[in-house]
Amino acid sequence: MASAAEISPFRVVHTVCSHDCPVSCGVLVTVDASGRAVKVAGDPKHPVTQGFLCGKVAKYLDRVYAPERILYPLKRKAGVPKGPLVKGREHEAFERVSWDEALDAIAARLQRVSDEFGPEAILPYSYAGTIGQLGFGSMDRRFFHRLGACQLDRTICSEAGGEAWKLVYGKKLGTPTEDFRLAKLVLAWGANIHGNNVHLWPFIEQARRNGGRLIVIDPYRTRTAALADWHIAIRPGTDGALALGMMQVILNEGLEDRAYIAAMTHGFERLGERVKEYTPERVAAWTGMTPGEIEALAREYATTRPAALRLNYGVQRTENGGTAVQAIAMLPALTGAWKHRGGGAVLSTSGAFDWDKEALQRPDLALASPLGRLARTVNMCRLGAALAEQSSVVSSQLSEEPAGDPPVKALFVYNSNPAAVAPNGNAVKTGMERGDLFTVVHELFFTDTTDYADYILPATTFLEHTDVQGAYGHYYVQLSQQAIEPPGEARPNVWLFGQLAQRMGFEEACFRDEPEAMVAQALAIGGDGHSRIEGMEHITLDGLKEHGHISIGFYREPESQPFLPYTSGALSTLSRKVEFYSETLAAQGRDPLPAFIPPIESRFGEDAKRYPLEFLSRKADNYMNSTFADLDGHRKMEARKNQRLEMHPQDAAARGIGEGDAVRIWNDRGALTLTAMMNASLPAGVVAGQLDWAKLSGKGGNVNALTSERLTDIGAGATFYSTLVEVEKQLSIVSDQLSVFFAHPVA
Ligand code: SF4
Repeated sequence: MASAAEISPFRVVHTVCSHDCPVSCGVLVTVDASGRAVKVAGDPKHPVTQGFLCGKVAKYLDRVYAPERILYPLKRKAGVPKGPLVKGREHEAFERVSWDEALDAIAARLQRVSDEFGPEAILPYSYAGTIGQLGFGSMDRRFFHRLGACQLDRTICSEAGGEAWKLVYGKKLGTPTEDFRLAKLVLAWGANIHGNNVHLWPFIEQARRNGGRLIVIDPYRTRTAALADWHIAIRPGTDGALALGMMQVILNEGLEDRAYIAAMTHGFERLGERVKEYTPERVAAWTGMTPGEIEALAREYATTRPAALRLNYGVQRTENGGTAVQAIAMLPALTGAWKHRGGGAVLSTSGAFDWDKEALQRPDLALASPLGRLARTVNMCRLGAALAEQSSVVSSQLSEEPAGDPPVKALFVYNSNPAAVAPNGNAVKTGMERGDLFTVVHELFFTDTTDYADYILPATTFLEHTDVQGAYGHYYVQLSQQAIEPPGEARPNVWLFGQLAQRMGFEEACFRDEPEAMVAQALAIGGDGHSRIEGMEHITLDGLKEHGHISIGFYREPESQPFLPYTSGALSTLSRKVEFYSETLAAQGRDPLPAFIPPIESRFGEDAKRYPLEFLSRKADNYMNSTFADLDGHRKMEARKNQRLEMHPQDAAARGIGEGDAVRIWNDRGALTLTAMMNASLPAGVVAGQLDWAKLSGKGGNVNALTSERLTDIGAGATFYSTLVEVEKQLSIVSDQLSVFFAHPVA
């Protein structure tokens, strides 16, 4: 007799949410007999997803079947200038073309650019619009390597903190999400768990029911901070000082774990000397805390067991953010918190997934490019400068003998919306407006970036393609199976770049690889069907198809042998130990020990005389950076804070600003008009506005009109949270309109 599953008109397909989030939820998609997805739900068998999805993705079918989705390749109509288009009417600027026509035209233009200026005049621009291994970086990298296009330094999000963590521990591992339930203290540092890592929250709630406390360190009173036992509203960019101050107190009071330090660490004595200067009094002057609060925090952290530190990437988006993470990461090593199950720390678990990137991305293909070598590297945080006519000022030349330094003449954007998310937004848009710049955008919806495209190509959601994925918040490998056919003519990255490669005449067989073969390559599946990657040897494709998720090898130990990272064996740092003293930095001639240097753009810098307020360009809880910001349901959830400038009443009063006033916020890079909203929980001297689409943010663009292209001290990442501004009450709408009139007189 047929089983219920066999006679059901529905099938359930295991997919993985590929949005840029630590959780990488297992998502079960129910598909009806017509092939239409009718339901998405969290996988109840996934130990971290636990059967629920966040508010961003719970109604994902609204996004998959949104009437606004781009379903066909589009070409800019002749004579339509590049620049902001009216939301909902963007299609008027474009005409539908076939895939063949679009691919032929794009291939021909890229070839012309390469012939005339060299392939390094072509700049790919992508990030984590999808974080599956295939979607994030596979056929696209093969294509651009073979082409000889610029390499992109993808540092906009996590590089500063990631590099800093690796300086201390060698590899990005951390406390398992599931073990947070055992913590007696959770220290959430720059981590809005409720907003951006909601699947950790049930474990924290469990810990609190068992008597654990939650302390949140964040300049902004996030939803997580509002729910904490203690919220420390530290000043932006001073986290490193606080960590050093905590270390000073811990050592001064003898609260360190000497046994752990002796067994597992390197450079303790030199760290001890360094932190002596970071007295609570001195640190208080930087952070805005009292000396007593610093001492109390250090004591509670060092004496509570288990103590789990959830560090997130907000901390490292300041000029000194790399060093701040380096210092914070040392705390659990100083107190021996790693030894206790439910203790330790986590920034990211991505180091557990050692994918075969050589096979997936084929950097060797660069040897077959016209350059015969890897191309120059452009830092994605400096796109505005890269698109300026003289790009030589921005590219960091990694190649030994770069063949000239051509300006960027072609920009290929996928998995990203740089016109909204890249810093120094006005410079980015000025560059993208250039008439001689050829721009292709692979996207699901019209965005700020598609307003500048010559061609727009329709992209797929994670329901519509196959991929394999790890996570940066847990230890499970997951297979994302294609659940539905892409609507219209939407196509995934793998297909797009394979097709383009063939049109460019690239004959390497790898450009014809199918997605499932590429999943096998990512896992380095051998002849016996098993992965060859350390920690993944037990993983097979059939196993993934059957179970959806399989844990990394070291995380499969029985309950009696919990996973306690960095508690035994040799690490992959130069000293093979946890490095308080960084041998890597020492070899580079840099300061090997953490030190606090206030950001140039902070209240402690010279520029504060002109721009005295520190600006937090925050992410909205219900968007994923700029993703989802176009959907009405998500916008409604953010309506209270969209287009608002949150100010401490003291700062507002000093400027004659009241609740609901129109305010102008500006610095040398740009100006915005927002509506003032009082928020007494902000530190005085700090204002906050949240990221939205530029064209939905009114006059002046979005918050990135104000942020800078300066890079972090470690990892060359973005410094979104080191931004100084001034704010004034907008005199009147009439005068504002007049200024617009005189700025753009009608001919
Ligand atoms: S965005 Fe994060 S929490 Fe939400 S469904 Fe995706 S992986 Fe899960």
